[in-house]
Amino acid sequence: MEVLKNYINGSWVESGEHQTMDVINPANQEVLGKVPYGEKTTGDVDSAVAAASEALKQWREFPVMKRVQPLYKLKQLLEENIDELGRLITLECGKSFVESKAEMQRAIENVETACATPTLMQSEFSENVATGIDEFMIRQPVGVCACIAPFNFPGMIPFWFLPYAIACGNSFIIKPSEKVPLTMMKVFELIDQLDDLPKGLINLVHGGKPSVDALLDHPEIKAVSFVGSTRVARYIYQRGTANGKRVQAQGGAKNPLIVMPDADIEITARVVADSVYGCAGQRCLAASNIIAVADTKGVIKEALVEAAKQKTTGFGLDEGIEMGPVITAESKTRIEGLIAKGIDEGATPLLDGRNAKISGYEKGNFIKPTILENVALDGEVINTEIFGPVMSLLQMDSIEKAIDFVNRNNYGNMACLFTTSGLNARMFRNQANAGNIGINIGVAAPMAQFPFSGWNDSFFGDLHGQGRHAIEFFTQTKVVIERWPKEWTRKF
Ligand code: NAD
Repeated sequence: MEVLKNYINGSWVESGEHQTMDVINPANQEVLGKVPYGEKTTGDVDSAVAAASEALKQWREFPVMKRVQPLYKLKQLLEENIDELGRLITLECGKSFVESKAEMQRAIENVETACATPTLMQSEFSENVATGIDEFMIRQPVGVCACIAPFNFPGMIPFWFLPYAIACGNSFIIKPSEKVPLTMMKVFELIDQLDDLPKGLINLVHGGKPSVDALLDHPEIKAVSFVGSTRVARYIYQRGTANGKRVQAQGGAKNPLIVMPDADIEITARVVADSVYGCAGQRCLAASNIIAVADTKGVIKEALVEAAKQKTTGFGLDEGIEMGPVITAESKTRIEGLIAKGIDEGATPLLDGRNAKISGYEKGNFIKPTILENVALDGEVINTEIFGPVMSLLQMDSIEKAIDFVNRNNYGNMACLFTTSGLNARMFRNQANAGNIGINIGVAAPMAQFPFSGWNDSFFGDLHGQGRHAIEFFTQTKVVIERWPKEWTRKF
């Protein structure tokens, strides 16, 4: 099987590293490709940075209106190829075909939003800040930028950054997750069709830690956008900033969701199940701890079990499948171990999805929807990012206690409330310590024009991905003060 190539300086090139890692379909363990994986991938990074530095010289001089033109073409190409991109996401990442296409739709919306960069980049001008003195601010590109992506959204996440970075006049390097490099290979086939981009403007390099470290250490790279687990996000932030780069590093999550007694139980149960089990729980905005307030647990429990049972699990390209496998056999073992740990800690399984057998896909990494009740509040399950289809159903006396529980969470990616009371909703959105808040929404994923706002251990940095934050991240401000004294005589 051919080893995946890098895309550097406008061409597909072989990696200098001959060691590889298999890219595996998590539904049946079929090997889909071989990705370069080893120390020598650092040489690929050097070549990509050299190409990106060269392209930058020309690109940053292009007028901004010209820089967004390729984005219109890219949007069209992504739309024309959405089925193929969706198919690749399902093959390598496991989620259902519907989820994969929805993911690509979010990518496209970021390209569309970045097309507004000529307006978004506009800046400020103050006339006569002192007599005869005008002052204004301009935004300039930062230079060569890099994105390091996780496995769970192989098509969408690079687009939280890429379109804004290049529209702002930067060049770009993407390092996809070694577990799911195929979707970006297809995206780069499309990028290759954008004739009006200088060669080397957008590059693709494969690999694992050595290529990441090479990106973090290369002096020519000025900005790094990372999405992945908290452990790695913290490392990326520390190493990148120590090397003088600007870094935005989005980390893991453990998202709580509160259900009030006045919530619409039927709708809520469905939305909660979608949040917990969508993408098999491998979503940084998946709800995990469900807190039923007062007597709500008795009312919603059965509805949740029913909604969970209805999730059809299987290979994501098969008709009617809603939930796919988890990414690797190791993940399945880890998640099933956490379910066992929860039961050891005193939890009762209302649904136990371990040892799932899917006919025709016996080797797949499947776990069916799981619900644990009476989970220990100080236990591992409630405080660990499980990243699998597991719900802990908790009960608390009041909204105050539930908010207090939410705010004791080390993460802060998302918190949601289900209620029909405006007063409860207002109090919650004001007091909950999380950067993305849902009111009667189970996956509070910001649209492209808003920042993807994680807090606490879910984010390291200042400016998030998407929208205006991305424009600010990918530009540096320059303030100009000009004096034009009246006493100088005009000659013409
Ligand atoms: P991961 O941290 O294992 O890997 C992410 C990237 O970092 C990959 O490209 C990988 O090659 C690289 N990497 C891994 N270990 C490294 C190391 N030791 N040194 C340097 N680089 C390293 O994450 P994952 O398992 O691919 O993705 C799942 C995680 O991502 C979950 O924790 C999830 O919550 C998080 N996530 C967060 C968001 C968000 O917006 N906050 C979005 C999606 C996923």
